[in-house]
Amino acid sequence: MHSIAFLGLGIMGQGMVANLLKAGYPTTVWNRSPERCLPFVAQGAKTPKEAAQAADVILYCLADDAAVEQVVFGPSGVLEGVRAGQVAVNMTTQSPALSLREAAAYQAKGVDFLDAPVFGSKNEAAQAGLWIVVGGEREVLERVRPILQALSASIHYMGEHGKGAAMKLAGNLIVASQLHALGEAMVLATKAGLHPSDVLDVLRVTDFKSPIFEGVGGALIARNFETYFALKLMLKDANLIAHFAERLNVPIPASAAIRETIKAAVNHGWGEENASALIKALELQAGVQVRA
Ligand code: NAP
Repeated sequence: MHSIAFLGLGIMGQGMVANLLKAGYPTTVWNRSPERCLPFVAQGAKTPKEAAQAADVILYCLADDAAVEQVVFGPSGVLEGVRAGQVAVNMTTQSPALSLREAAAYQAKGVDFLDAPVFGSKNEAAQAGLWIVVGGEREVLERVRPILQALSASIHYMGEHGKGAAMKLAGNLIVASQLHALGEAMVLATKAGLHPSDVLDVLRVTDFKSPIFEGVGGALIARNFETYFALKLMLKDANLIAHFAERLNVPIPASAAIRETIKAAVNHGWGEENASALIKALELQAGVQVRA
């Protein structure tokens, strides 16, 4: 069985590591804030370099491009610890361009690389129910497939390096659109005098229902914005999507407008709350609050 290093024990990483341990993989963990290693070990690896040295396969799920720059390319980073024959798997939602740079840097060290970001949130990470989208060489995916299977409900090979990251951005464009649509509809319906729980009942059964509405709707009308996917990370993704579309000369007018709402909500100080807190920016503009 391959030994694993896992870097980044955030909301997603915590669930993933628990499942790797459950599947029996010897796993070394590293996190910037060391106390987050405590549920798994008394002390994690001291540096990303040390974690990378300890394993056959290196997995990481970090906040953003800047975190990957730091952890992979930075001083005492992963690239300083790797050796030929290892595989690195990046599960961060990040720019496809960064995936290409990582692939080249690892290749120079004889290390195989996959960009393998995930769909699903805290619950899916905890229940090994993620949906993983993979870019890189198919043969490399086959080598680590059992590890990814221990985390996921399904694995989708999208093509060469960067294609996993590209699929993740296309998918998160839809996630943001759905959350924004839910927010606008709930604000409009509330201002029209409808009861939010009656509105949700309709949204749950109609032919435009969505697991996303189901997932956040109840909490939203209970004014529960406990973080499963932080609003600040959704802004990070909206920015990645905007830059990616710009590079490809693709107009994304609806997503551009949605990014402005997310930006406004973060500027109001709700960035650490769940992504569904974007509704608060819409409520402010409409002068109404959606509440059960
Ligand atoms: P999170 O809870 O905020 O965790 C972020 C992780 O990145 C933490 O381990 C954090 O370390 C680390 N980090 C941040 N900046 C760093 C830096 N400069 N150097 C080193 N480490 C750094 O985020 P998450 O929700 O687990 O998300 C992780 C990734 O998965 C993100 O790319 C996100 O977009 C993606 N994702 C999230 C969800 C979701 O529903 N939450 C779903 C799909 C994909 P500290 O503990 O020290 O802060």
